Amino acid sequence: MKRRKYIIGNWKMNHGLEEIRTFFIDFSKVKMELNCVVAIAPQFIHIPILKELAFTTGNMQIGAQNAAEVDSGAFTGEVSAKSLKDMGVDFVILGHSERRAIYKEGHEILNRKVKNALKNELPVIFCIGETLSERESGKTFEVVKEQIEHGLSGISNSDMQNIVIAYEPVWAIGTGKNASKEEAEEVHQYIRTILPHRKEETSILYGGSVKPDNIDGLLSMPNIDGALVGGASLKATDFKSLCVSASRF
Ligand code: PEP
Repeated sequence: MKRRKYIIGNWKMNHGLEEIRTFFIDFSKVKMELNCVVAIAPQFIHIPILKELAFTTGNMQIGAQNAAEVDSGAFTGEVSAKSLKDMGVDFVILGHSERRAIYKEGHEILNRKVKNALKNELPVIFCIGETLSERESGKTFEVVKEQIEHGLSGISNSDMQNIVIAYEPVWAIGTGKNASKEEAEEVHQYIRTILPHRKEETSILYGGSVKPDNIDGLLSMPNIDGALVGGASLKATDFKSLCVSASRF
């Protein structure tokens, strides 16, 4: 399978109905063919409305920001991968640093979530990345290796077709301080060597303060296949500009 360029917006817990409508009006203003995978992961409750609005923009994919590790049961407040799939959701983001840090999601639960999503044929964007202190103490490779080895433990060769990796250095998320294209490329290149299967075919996205003015440099690197974008995905003009850039590569 050929690697593709991706621009995925992670809206986190942002945007209400009015902002969503404005976003899609602005995003659709200038019609153009986008030659990359364009996707947004909104809050769960907004998924149906985004599915509807996305339809008007062509083929934007809509994803979820989390999914439970089992299909059903006494898990108050959780949403299952099975239900997401039933609702036509295209993918789920798992392992985001905010889930790891705030909700204490560790390797074992993330591995169960990845396996459950794949069992339900829900593709996974699996996020990994080191903190500032880990980078400063020279542990970046060690940290991402551990996250890949545990998070993707037991994943089969064919499952790997439904996994995209997002390397997101925690120190770059929402800080305005992105990794340079060389810093990011060095880690992406390393990640490719430690993937359990399909090393060359798997898409590896960069995330962390991606903006219209730094996307081109990042995408020019051989192992950077796109971006997972927080802040700059909230404004339609910025998000569209990222998609236009990715379409050129
Ligand atoms: C993210 O949260 O995944 C992210 C990359 O955020 P930002 O683009 O705002 O740094």
